[in-house]
Amino acid sequence: MNNFILQKESDDRIAQLRINSRQAIFLVSIFTCLFLSILYLSAEILSGTLYKKRLNDFKKNYNIMSENLKGLQKKLENLDNKVLVIEEKDKALRNYAGMPEIDLDIRKLGTGGYGIKSNILSDNIAPMINEELIALQLDIEKISRNVNLEIESYEAIYDKVKKDINRIAKIPSIRPVKGGYLNSSFGYRKDPIDNVTRFHQGQDITVKSGTPIHSPADGIVKRAYYAGGFGNHIKLDHGNGYTTLFAHLSKIKVKHGQKVSRGEVIGLTGNTGRSTAPHLHYEIHHYGESKNPLDYFFHSPN
Ligand SMILES: [Zn+2]
Repeated sequence: MNNFILQKESDDRIAQLRINSRQAIFLVSIFTCLFLSILYLSAEILSGTLYKKRLNDFKKNYNIMSENLKGLQKKLENLDNKVLVIEEKDKALRNYAGMPEIDLDIRKLGTGGYGIKSNILSDNIAPMINEELIALQLDIEKISRNVNLEIESYEAIYDKVKKDINRIAKIPSIRPVKGGYLNSSFGYRKDPIDNVTRFHQGQDITVKSGTPIHSPADGIVKRAYYAGGFGNHIKLDHGNGYTTLFAHLSKIKVKHGQKVSRGEVIGLTGNTGRSTAPHLHYEIHHYGESKNPLDYFFHSPN
């Protein structure tokens, strides 16, 4: 058996401690156990403290994040309401442009992709935050789909209106004189001069002589002269089959072949030709067929 001798020397004496190998192993074991225990306890205490600190940090971050998410949700709700207003205006515009409403199925589907990006479904995020994030992303995708749909719709409306504007500008659609009294209307009536029932092809508007007459649409002057029954009269050709006629004028302010715009003054009312009192006799024809002018009075001239 091996013996270990621990020796302490001083000048006057030598102290010796003799231990055998079994005792040595026992002592080393004890020290090792003690050392490991201390190490373990320190680690426990240290990690406990760190854990608490991290937990607190996490709670704080969680609350901040949760507040931020709620703020974003509110903003999205506002945005969603604004998109609803845009959709309403879209409906009204389509109505005016004579276009059908956007199909409800298309509205539901919208345009563009759909789907949750998997990268936010990370295990590292607290489940509550995760749910809020998914809800937010769904809202954002819904709004962006609707916005894309509206952009496409407004482009379609713009194209339609642009195409129509030339055609619409040539349809007689304003009253040729401001105010006045609507006298003899379109249809059969007893002629005020010879009392014979005849078809009256236009609308009579009683106004005082000298009232400005406005062109009801863009067009070209086809007639501008005096003739027996009509007296001083003007005939305009607006294209697309529309012509208009103005009779009994006191003054003609346009010449044959002249281009006129909607609203432009072409003459003044009067009492010339076969007329018993100052008034404007106004006719609208579409491909030669006389139309009731009252159906074309959309606006008064400005
Ligand atoms: Zn008349």
